[in-house]
Amino acid sequence: MATQKKASSGAAIKTKASVESIRVVPLFNPKMDIKMGELSTKTGDSELLALPPQTATPKLVYNGGALIKNVKVYTIFWGKNWSSNAAFISLKTNINSFFTAILTSPLLDQLAEYSVTGSAIGPGSLTGSKTITTGAPKTHIADSLIRTTLTGWITAGTVPPWDANILYFIYMDKGVKVTMGGSSSCTSFCGYHDAMSGKKYYAVMPFPSCAGCLGGLSVQDALTGTSSHELCEAITDPVPPTGWYDNANGEIGDICAWKFKTIAGYNVQLEWSNKAKSCI
Ligand SMILES: [Zn+2]
Repeated sequence: MATQKKASSGAAIKTKASVESIRVVPLFNPKMDIKMGELSTKTGDSELLALPPQTATPKLVYNGGALIKNVKVYTIFWGKNWSSNAAFISLKTNINSFFTAILTSPLLDQLAEYSVTGSAIGPGSLTGSKTITTGAPKTHIADSLIRTTLTGWITAGTVPPWDANILYFIYMDKGVKVTMGGSSSCTSFCGYHDAMSGKKYYAVMPFPSCAGCLGGLSVQDALTGTSSHELCEAITDPVPPTGWYDNANGEIGDICAWKFKTIAGYNVQLEWSNKAKSCI
């Protein structure tokens, strides 16, 4: 949200609309990138009109902020289906297996090029998982309430305490629309990551039940794809956009949205490499 970005060093990326456009998994729509500029124009923020052309070769620039060195993913499955529906329980198991495999895979190795002095990016781990039904939304929920709820879980010890490496991944139940700063899941985005108080890192994964967030994939492939997108972005830019960021193109995963490869049998998204000058 815009209020979380006030310490931003990126002067040209101030407005709500533009901020949302760059820390989310966009819908499966090749025109979406082009529309980011149009969306920004509609806000009337003249600074945004001065953004470099979107056709420029992407280049992530380090803005001096935090990185996640050895990420500890903690998955939270919030909703009734995750505890009582066999298909969802199976999917949940597979998502946790995906993290276990991916966090020590070449996907993490390739992020090492974004290590900086004092913050060497290396392998991570799945540190735990919890299924929660209490207070689960049935139809919609705002990001602000997700934050309040996550804070409550941390305070109550329902989930592990925050530390500089932990990344809470919150998976929503089927049929729950997530709203964030005037945008909605399946209408504007398929997932996002952010930081609370500039240091408690979390990602939100709405259940992909629309064409725009499935992109022709199975539910599991769509979820692991968008999860890998947010994972790599959270590691390299945990407090958007104070980490590695491209003012024209967004974060590491945005540049390569909806381009995938298979690692350890799981569908993962390609990520931008400054070194290779391509999505790898
Ligand atoms: Zn993104």
